[in-house]
Amino acid sequence: MNSEVWSKIELVQGDITNLAVDAIVNAANEALAGGGGVDGAIHRAAGWEDLQAACHKLGGCATGDAKITPGFRLPAKYIIHTVGPVFRGGQRGEPELLASAYRRSLEVAAENGVRTIAFPAISTGVYGYPFEAATEIALRTALDFLEQGGRVERVTFVFFARADFDLAQAVLERLRREPASG
Ligand code: ADP
Repeated sequence: MNSEVWSKIELVQGDITNLAVDAIVNAANEALAGGGGVDGAIHRAAGWEDLQAACHKLGGCATGDAKITPGFRLPAKYIIHTVGPVFRGGQRGEPELLASAYRRSLEVAAENGVRTIAFPAISTGVYGYPFEAATEIALRTALDFLEQGGRVERVTFVFFARADFDLAQAVLERLRREPASG
């Protein structure tokens, strides 16, 4: 992993709805119907009616896929809605589906000229994915995407809770110290 790739990754603590990036990612449900957690916060900040009208036209989103809408009243220009897996023990494709949610979000971002993108900790709330395992997948998927030349300049991971931010920093540090492979 070259140093340029690492420098494009940023971890922050805070509320994702406040970030003035090109796109924020929503941890949505398959119906794109709006919900609780970060999804509810994004809907409230963007404007529930406008966002739901845009989501309705998209016809839902499969787990592991991603779709884009305007950001409406958010500082962010776009919202990329992705659906992470519900964690049911880890043997039902959850790691692959979570990686896919991150990768598809980054692909949709690049297709739409997004240069700066911010992710919440997808699936780690109501969907129950163990936090450290989920964070490792999130970081590895973003690093791989950037390493493969994905045209995004900065990938920000946003943690609502201080304890989550601290844990995520430790995971990133551990990955950084891994011996280079290949
Ligand atoms: P999921 O259903 O994918 O598990 P949740 O919204 O329940 O999604 O939780 C995902 C993560 O988003 C959790 O770690 C939660 O702490 C975090 N979160 C909730 N609100 C916000 C917010 N406003 N900004 C950033 N992260 C948030």
